[in-house]
Amino acid sequence: MAKYTIAMKVSQQIKELFKMLSPIEQQGLLSELSTVNINCSPKESNVTSCPYCHDVRFVKNGKYKGHHRYKCKACNRNFSPHTGTAFQGIKKLDKFDQYKSIMFEEGFISLERMSKRVGISIQTAFDWRHKILSTLKPEEFEFRGITEMDDVWFLYSQKGRKGLAFSRKRGGSSRKGDNDYQVKMLVTADRTQAQDLSVVRIGRIKSSDINRKVGHRMGTECTLVSDKHRSISSFAKQNEIKHVSFKATEHVADKEHHVQKVNNIASRLKSQTNHICRGVSTKYLQSYANWFQFAETYKEQGDIVAQVDKALLANHKSWDTFTNIEPLYKQFIKEQSRRTYRCPTKRHWKSQQKEAIKVEPLSYL
Ligand SMILES: [Zn+2]
Repeated sequence: MAKYTIAMKVSQQIKELFKMLSPIEQQGLLSELSTVNINCSPKESNVTSCPYCHDVRFVKNGKYKGHHRYKCKACNRNFSPHTGTAFQGIKKLDKFDQYKSIMFEEGFISLERMSKRVGISIQTAFDWRHKILSTLKPEEFEFRGITEMDDVWFLYSQKGRKGLAFSRKRGGSSRKGDNDYQVKMLVTADRTQAQDLSVVRIGRIKSSDINRKVGHRMGTECTLVSDKHRSISSFAKQNEIKHVSFKATEHVADKEHHVQKVNNIASRLKSQTNHICRGVSTKYLQSYANWFQFAETYKEQGDIVAQVDKALLANHKSWDTFTNIEPLYKQFIKEQSRRTYRCPTKRHWKSQQKEAIKVEPLSYL
């Protein structure tokens, strides 16, 4: 067998042939291809590199449990198209498909209802939800033109955590004002399709938080609109971005400059997490934001479940992130808050990779 897989050879050939076309023919072909619906069902997905070492030299190595198996020539490990993705270890793929459809076509749903409808245990319903959500992020479009920004507050919650000496797991604090019980989600959206929902900190947002999450997606042609938040102002100043601000009580600067879009996103997300899920733990807040955001971004583009599959199959770090949510949460508490990390969960997986945290530090939190 040749050095490269058949998939590599074909794409190489296509690239060579493409160069032989005239510029007009190339243009025509590109626009024709952009309308092609990519079929990404797990069985037919193309593997382009080794999920462990990313080397492109690998060969077919028979079949395992109905899927093609490959062997990497660089690191000698076997893998399948599912290795590392959210599909890893899932045996009931038909039920998993049904699960994804309900999740993205119908929106937020409780674990009890989901487990009954799909015919799986509540633990499985929980695991599948977080396998999917812990790594599902829509494409990061660049922000253009008027870009609204606001911070949304959620009460710190340790819902579901066992062994705490305090009874107040869901309620946070009754203290008013900004304090270490307020989890901050930064919501950014332009007037087209670019948006971002990121859990950034517990306590007061810093300009470095904004930089870390959305700085790379914002150019000097943006006009940032927000209330008079000191950290947002200094972020804009540091990055030489035009900033239009207004008093928090006024909500708008003028007809064009307001934050109605991000307010609308925030209130819909809040009503779903509070009413349908009856509050979510801080540990999983980013996951719920990912769920909401994914549905928002792709709802008008037809088959949303196909979009979900495409995103899941492309992410070979899903398994690592899913099995490392607890250490990532610990890291978040230590670096992005003044709270004390308590009562770690004791669940472990055989193939849990501890190095994952170093590779992808805060992509999730
Ligand atoms: Zn390898």
